[in-house]
Amino acid sequence: MHLELTRVVQGSGRLGVLRGLSRTRPHHSLETPGCLLYTHLGSVPHLTQDTLHTLKDLPSVTQVTLSDIAEHQEVLESFKEGFRKFAGLHDTVLYCSLHDPAALCPAGYTTNKTVSVWGSGGRMELTVTKFMSLQKCTQPDWYTSMADGETWQVNTTRKRVRKSVDRTLAHLDECLLLHHKLPELEEVSVFGVVEGGDIVDERLRSARETAKRPVVGFCLDGFQTGFMEPSVRAQLIAAVTEELPEDKPRLLPGVGRPDEVLACVEAGVDVFEGFFPFQVTERGCALCFRFDVTPDPESAGRAPPAVLELNKEEEVVRNGNVNRDDQTQMTPFEINLKDKRYEDDFGPLVKGCGCYSCQNHQRAYLHHLLVTNELLAGVLLMIHNTSHYLGFFKALRAALASDQLELLKRRVMEAGGRESD
Ligand SMILES: [Zn+2]
Repeated sequence: MHLELTRVVQGSGRLGVLRGLSRTRPHHSLETPGCLLYTHLGSVPHLTQDTLHTLKDLPSVTQVTLSDIAEHQEVLESFKEGFRKFAGLHDTVLYCSLHDPAALCPAGYTTNKTVSVWGSGGRMELTVTKFMSLQKCTQPDWYTSMADGETWQVNTTRKRVRKSVDRTLAHLDECLLLHHKLPELEEVSVFGVVEGGDIVDERLRSARETAKRPVVGFCLDGFQTGFMEPSVRAQLIAAVTEELPEDKPRLLPGVGRPDEVLACVEAGVDVFEGFFPFQVTERGCALCFRFDVTPDPESAGRAPPAVLELNKEEEVVRNGNVNRDDQTQMTPFEINLKDKRYEDDFGPLVKGCGCYSCQNHQRAYLHHLLVTNELLAGVLLMIHNTSHYLGFFKALRAALASDQLELLKRRVMEAGGRESD
């Protein structure tokens, strides 16, 4: 795998293409900044493979999590042909992460030799040997090495952070050692995990040491939404990415809100997990923020939003992410279709959206499906939310290519949720 950078502007992000994503699937590439396809056990929630493939610009990399897979190890071992075939995923690059970004992961369960993951049946403790035996039967194209990432809580001590960096490096070395002994993983690539909590010198040590190992990219752990002041996070990510080799991708788990994605791209991140549309769908909401940077003839003559209102919205965006509960709470980028105000709203979810849901249905119908608990609500919302989110990433790359990132940021922040009301 190699990253071809077409444009790098210090402090404004990197535009590029990841090529040769997998040795068995060399024709696949991923444009960056980009996101992965979020799944539960290989399936995008609410959507069949048929429906999924009607969406445009789907990411070429599908994410599965070890927390989902671990409890099916015996079945996969007897199946023998890897998770991609098991789940009916025919032609996608498979990425296996340790944790599910959309699920809470309780703290206090790591030891020097183990980490814990939570599946539907509860907690499972993994040693490196167990972790690698899971990779052996999953047969992904990429995986992140085992890591001790329990440093996201406020007031984690320096001693604990140092221990997390040391353990994560030790786990990586052990994973690499076993990896090279397993012929099943010959074609598989490893992402090293950078830890270090909110302590800059530990972050830098983790980045430098991980970069010395034979990894294809870096997973910047411990920056999940809700645990760190966004400005501190951006500074730490910028410091870490400075230390990392330019030609390898940086993946940021647990961050999906559009405003946070923009800030982290500016700090040097290339790849995000695509779980945000799923979270929005689960709360009965539709993404409706704007990301168009070309003048809209319809709104061209309209007065700009009141400055006071804009500031208020930005304040919500800035202050809204210091609490883990926000993962399940509405953001300013969506509308809540269960709200009675949509009962007789016969417009599409988003005017001008080309997705199936917006082309064929109205807000009032989605409201009806949600209040009557019809399963179709999740299907239609997931189609729109995924399509809208992928459109945002496309616009982000276009804005980087044409020096319009500032304009895109203003558009995303000012329009959050209100524009289509
Ligand atoms: Zn739509």
